[in-house]
Amino acid sequence: MPERTCIACRNKNDQGFFWRVARDFEGRVALWKGHGRSAYICKKQECIDGALSKGRLERALKGPVASEDRRVLQDELICKLR
Ligand SMILES: [Zn+2]
Repeated sequence: MPERTCIACRNKNDQGFFWRVARDFEGRVALWKGHGRSAYICKKQECIDGALSKGRLERALKGPVASEDRRVLQDELICKLR
């Protein structure tokens, strides 16, 4: 099992431990979509906040993330925490 790293806290773990966010072929960023470059986020509030701030998502995905995509992603992740 390859290890993944949370883009917020940098903890390493198995892929199943994280949510996966990826960029699709149109450049949109969403949860579990796309086959290209992806970013991993721990399933907790601090890491959602951390991942969506300070350009971490942009850095992990090597490019801009639309503000709408970011907002949808944040809503989805927070919803999954409940
Ligand atoms: Zn984390």
